[in-house]
Formats: sequence, C-alpha cells, structure tokens
Amino acid sequence: MSDNNATIELKEITKEFKSTKVIDQLNLKIAAGEFLVLLGPSGCGKSTTLRMIAGLESVSNGEVLIDGDDLNNKANDGHTIAMVFQDYALYPNMTVYQNLEYALKVHKVPKDERSLRLESILETLNLTKYKDRLPSELSGGQKQRVALGRGMAKKSKIFLLDEPLSNIDVQLREKARDEIQNLHDRNKQTIVYVTHDQLEAMALGDRIAVMNDGIIQMVDTPDNIYKNPTNLFVAKFIGTPQINILDVKYQDGYLLIANQRVVRVKQTANIEPNDYLLGIRPEHIKLSKESDEDLSIPAVVTKIVDYGRFTQLTLELDEKYTIKAVTKDINCNIGDTLYVRIEEQTSIIFDKDSQKNIYWDRV
Ligand code: ADP
Ligand code: MG
Repeated sequence: MSDNNATIELKEITKEFKSTKVIDQLNLKIAAGEFLVLLGPSGCGKSTTLRMIAGLESVSNGEVLIDGDDLNNKANDGHTIAMVFQDYALYPNMTVYQNLEYALKVHKVPKDERSLRLESILETLNLTKYKDRLPSELSGGQKQRVALGRGMAKKSKIFLLDEPLSNIDVQLREKARDEIQNLHDRNKQTIVYVTHDQLEAMALGDRIAVMNDGIIQMVDTPDNIYKNPTNLFVAKFIGTPQINILDVKYQDGYLLIANQRVVRVKQTANIEPNDYLLGIRPEHIKLSKESDEDLSIPAVVTKIVDYGRFTQLTLELDEKYTIKAVTKDINCNIGDTLYVRIEEQTSIIFDKDSQKNIYWDRV
C-alpha cells in the first residue's frame, strides 16, 4: 500500500444485465502503480468492467478489492478513484475551468495549488483559450480533453480512463497520450485504461488484458502478446496489417502449404502429424526476387500500397492462399513473382479446432 496508488483485484466477477451475461467469471489482479490496458472490440464489456471497478455498477457475482479491501469501503472517499468517462459527463452549467476545478475544491486543495495544477493541464491539453466556455460551446474532441483534464487534476490513487482519446484529432492524440504516460511516470497512480485501439494499448500498457465477449483472453506484456498470442482472436486483434493465418499440414519434419515445404521443424518440437493454422505477421515475411532457398515459395504480387515508410504487398501463392507482407526494400510491380520465406522463429502455430496457440518449441 502507498499514498500514491492502490492494488485492484477482480475476483470471479460476473455481470448480468437482466438475464444477459456480459462479464463471465473475470479474474484480474492489477499491481499498485501498474498501467494496465483493457483492450477489446466494441461491446465486449470494457466499460462495464471499468464501471464495476469504480463502484458505479454493481457486480452480479464476485468481488472487487481495492488494496485488499472491499471496494465499497474505499471508493466513495473521493480520493481513491478518478474516472474519465467515455461520454465525458461534464457539468453542463460550469465552464471548462470550473469543471476541472470542482473536485479539487470539494477536496479542499488550496487555491494556489489548484490554479498551478490546472494552468499546466489546460496548457498541455490545448484548452487554455477555452477555459471560460461552457461544455455546450465545445466540440466533441474539446469536451473529451476537458474530461481527461478533470481526471488528471485529481491525483487519485486509481485512475480509470474509458477510451479517453477516441474523439481527439490524431495530431493532438499523440500529445495527449504522451501526457498520460508522463503523468503516470510522475504520480505512479494505478491506471486502468480502456481502448479498442491496439496501437494505443501497445504504446501505453505495462500489461494488456485482451477481452472478447466478456472474457479475458490473455493478460501479458505488449511484447508477449505480440510474439506469442494465446489464441487466434488475440493474434488477429493485435498487429496491423493483420497477421496472416494459413492452413498448414505437418509432415516428416516440415510444415507444408499446398504441399510445398515452407518451415523446417526440429525433431524435438514434438508436433503431431496433423493440420494446423500457421500465423505469420506481415512484417516477418521475408521476400526476395530470386529463389535462393529450398523453402522459399513463389507468389505473385497482386496489390501494392506505398505508405512511404514501408510498402504493403498482397501476394497470391495460389487461389486459396493470399499473404500480406510489409517490406522496406523491394521494388516490384503488380504481376511480378517474388519468393516468400516464412521463418521458424516468427511462426506461431494454432490448433485448428480450439484455435489455441500450441506454443511449439521454436529454434
Ligand atoms: P464496451 O465498453 O466494451 O464497448 P460495454 O461494457 O459498454 O462494452 O457493454 C458490454 C455489453 O453489455 C454490451 O452488449 C452492451 O449492450 C451491454 N450493456 C451495457 N450496459 C448495459 C445496460 N445498462 N443495460 C443492458 N445492457 C447493457
Ligand atoms: Mg465502452
């Protein structure tokens, strides 16, 4: 326990609205001072989970513990939790400045300290010139910045943010994202940050909890989630362009695509002769103009998108197999044949039925 932050524990949480179960036996432990990102598609239960942590939504079953104690003994003191709402929830009759100042006044933060904190937040979020406006006189993105600023001002032990950057223009979004990170570095609050944007999650999280249909699929560091996703859902949700998923067969020490050997598998890898799904990220596909290795397979370029920093190619191995690849150094035209090499170290193998990662023993 510390003055700056608190642990959060969700134990076997279930949430039903009427008879519809939207959260199913969710377990999650968040360390004091951790930056945890809750990531998942729209409707998967992120906001509901966050609102249960804030004590704004009751749990149907299970427990929410803050620093090991029942939430209800902690949440309402006004110091422990601050939340930025997805729909902003600004006080309509207060100006931007008054919105930011309100909670600080209630908690008796001295006037000098209040204006010091708020000036800097207004500045960072480019809101200084709007500080005397009412919420009705602001754009969606400006309102969202006020909501974010209001949460930042509080210095609570737990800071909950529900898609706080979703309506902010791209240029400002990066700055606001950096500022949330700086705030965390300075104040060491425990942060739970909800987003559907995987890039945001990768950039911000100490750990990411990937959620789908009310169930947490995987909780791990961004690096592990990227390199070794627990199942096909997580693999596809993280990474852009999306991971390639290819039907493969294991036979006699090789993975085969359309009867061509593509990946050598070492003896000790212990893979059963069977059909699998092979996951390979576009940035891990190796391309060359010559067939220089026995495991490279020819593919025809069908689409080229030039992003400046890199080029994204779509290649067809045959009618059934299309691969996306990202490259910096190959010049090619539509219709060219390139040689595709899939490497063992970056190949992820999934069971075809369960769609789970088999965590095979790579080199
Ligand atoms: P997310 O934030 O991931 O988009 P939500 O937590 O808002 O998802 O919603 C999860 C599911 O619960 C959705 O299917 C949504 O329609 C449903 N839901 C959310 N709030 C309510 C409510 N108050 N009454 C009934 N259903 C709700
Ligand atoms: Mg939501």
